[in-house]
Amino acid sequence: MSLATKLSLGIALLVTVSVGSVSLLAFTVSRRSLREQALSANLTTATLAARAVEQYIADAANIMREAPGQSKLGQEVRRENWPEASKLLEDFLRNFTQFDSVFVRDPQGIIRARVPHAEAVGEDFSFWDFFREAMRTGRLHISGVHVSKADRRSVVSISVPVLDGDNIKGVLVGALSLGRISQLISMIGREDRSVVYVVDGEGLLIAHSGGARAGLPEDMKARPIVQAVMAGKSGTMEFREPDRGESLLGAYVLIPRLGWGVVATKPIWVVYAAANRLGRWLLWMALGCTAAAVLFGWGLARTWTGPLLRFSEPAAGDPVIRVTAESRDEQAVLAPSFNPMAEHLQESYRDLEREITESKQTEEPIWHDLERVKALHEIDLAITSTLDLRTVLDVLLGKIDSLLPYPVSTTVRLRNRDTGELEPISCLNLNEAVWKQPEWKSGRGLTNVVAETRIPLVAENIYTDPRVRDREFFRRYNLVSYLGLPLMAKRELLGVLSIYRKEEHRFTHEEVEFLSTIAGQAAIAIQNSQLYEETKKQAVELEKSNKVKSEFLSVMSHELRTPLNVVIGYAGMIKDGMFGEINPEQEEGLGKVLKQANDQLTTINSILYATQLEARAIIVDRYPVMLTDFLNNLRSDYDAPLDKELTLNWDYPSELPPVITDSEKLKHILKNLIDNAIKFTERGNVTLSAQYLPQANSVEFKVTDTAIGIPKESLSVIFEKFHQVDSSETRSYGGVGLGLYIVKQLTELLGGHVGVESELGKGSTFAVTIPYEKPVSQDISEKN
Ligand code: ADP
Repeated sequence: MSLATKLSLGIALLVTVSVGSVSLLAFTVSRRSLREQALSANLTTATLAARAVEQYIADAANIMREAPGQSKLGQEVRRENWPEASKLLEDFLRNFTQFDSVFVRDPQGIIRARVPHAEAVGEDFSFWDFFREAMRTGRLHISGVHVSKADRRSVVSISVPVLDGDNIKGVLVGALSLGRISQLISMIGREDRSVVYVVDGEGLLIAHSGGARAGLPEDMKARPIVQAVMAGKSGTMEFREPDRGESLLGAYVLIPRLGWGVVATKPIWVVYAAANRLGRWLLWMALGCTAAAVLFGWGLARTWTGPLLRFSEPAAGDPVIRVTAESRDEQAVLAPSFNPMAEHLQESYRDLEREITESKQTEEPIWHDLERVKALHEIDLAITSTLDLRTVLDVLLGKIDSLLPYPVSTTVRLRNRDTGELEPISCLNLNEAVWKQPEWKSGRGLTNVVAETRIPLVAENIYTDPRVRDREFFRRYNLVSYLGLPLMAKRELLGVLSIYRKEEHRFTHEEVEFLSTIAGQAAIAIQNSQLYEETKKQAVELEKSNKVKSEFLSVMSHELRTPLNVVIGYAGMIKDGMFGEINPEQEEGLGKVLKQANDQLTTINSILYATQLEARAIIVDRYPVMLTDFLNNLRSDYDAPLDKELTLNWDYPSELPPVITDSEKLKHILKNLIDNAIKFTERGNVTLSAQYLPQANSVEFKVTDTAIGIPKESLSVIFEKFHQVDSSETRSYGGVGLGLYIVKQLTELLGGHVGVESELGKGSTFAVTIPYEKPVSQDISEKN
């Protein structure tokens, strides 16, 4: 919702509420005052009417009161001269027209004279109250409304006794014209829709401003206002007409002397008509005010918000808004101070723009450099993330293609190291099959020039360049310009990267430089992947030859062992004299044959064992071993005297803990070490020691000798296959360099490790450590 809408609605709401409430108040007040006015007017009317009626009755009563005394009528009645009296009655009626009829009764109530309706003479009227009252009191009596027997009309009778001394000679009765009373009160209650009526003490209608009603007197008792006046009170009230249901405002006034009541009423809708008119008028006014307020609010809001809105609509080409002082209000005051501010702002804005443009210009090269570094970094990451030559080249060509702002075709030729030829390897945006056709296989023209010169080559237009020898290739692909870059790594030419365009284009110095950097990086990646390929090839070949060697060794060992065993067997049998007596020389000779053959067998066994180890065909079989028994057993193998000045020492505690291990393998290890020590020691000591190391949770075996020792540089290699310390001295001891290899392999199979400490000329110590695994007692008892 816009500010203008809000403002206009707000003002409209404010105006509507205030005008509405004022109107409502005025309406209510006017209704109340109209009501008050009507009630008081009614009261006035009723009071006036009551007085008039009272006066009228009093006048009539006076006439009646005086008639018997002063006129001849009284005398004639006293004389009971009825015919004369009748005549006098006629005169009376002529004089006093307020009476409808007048008659005389005798003390018994019989009518003696009557005007008009003389026919009623002789009728007995003694039952009438008004007659009896006058007879009883001897004074004037005014009756309530009753129906005249003679003409069946409602009448009020004034009765006055005709006295003769104290005797009542008759009663003179005058029937008062109710029509006259009605006329009287209608003259007072003339207001629009006002009704004035008079009721007697019984609530019967005597007179009505709407005219006398014919027939029987109307009973008005049902009306609450009549009941109030019958109760002897005067006042005002609002009530509802019982028959028509109309609401009326009324006033009632009692005429005490007569016991009659006068009522003046007015319909409430008549009273409120003016107020309702006012109400309608106020409603229209409120609506008008609301509409005016909406318009006014809108207009006002537009005046206020107009300048604000203009802030958002700067003039074309001018980003700064200015306030135009169209009015003479605060805006006009604001304009002079605001506009200079706007000018200033505009100037600052222009300065800022200028600065930004300048800084952009200075930043441009930096930005370029940054872009390049980013691109180089990306290429670097991509081509170094793989060692696959094909992938490296694909990434390289793809990156160049996406980096250059114009379409290019790219190729990579790599130099065959054997032939020196540039061979097509990879291309982009060219038909690879065609490009690799034999006719272009060796790379001609410009590519060879780049390979020869090893510097970048730019050809703006191949068709005009004299260096181009063969244009066929370019023609076929509609290629026009060329950039060739040598792929160099560690000063070696690996190949040539070529970039072709279909338009004439001179590659700028910047472009050449940038692409050369990429080519340099790519060359390193290419070289790495070439080396990797070679290594892979070598590894495969090596594995192949290793396998062949292992197979050869295995076969050879078997082939050698069988005949050797035959040789040893027969030599032993001959030596033992099983084929006849032999002389001592023969026996000695046979002894040497047997020793050499046994050594040979040991060597063959070693080769076979090493081959098996390599093929992972040796299986470790662990079980609880009582170490002391194991060592005692080993010791017994060396009981035979040695043909050297050498002492074999056994240094181990008598109570070594049992351990879970493969005793066969352990024995093989220790025997190899002891045999080596004996082999390389001419004189001195060879000691085998064993100890349990609880802290390291292991068992350590050491073989120490006082032999020739091993040079430091050889310590790291003696455990390798076929490795011997290369000295003429060692050579003389024989062996193939497999003993320590087997020791190391077996120790590792047992989960341990082997180490050596040695000093040249003094001796060596080989230490084998295996993990100590304590057997559960059940295992030991089972095994033992
Ligand atoms: P070989 O069959 O030659 O003994 P080994 O693998 O057992 O093969 O030993 C490798 C080389 O380590 C030996 O040729 C020898 O030079 C050196 N060597 C091994 N044990 C000793 C030792 N106790 N004292 C000196 N040199 C040793």
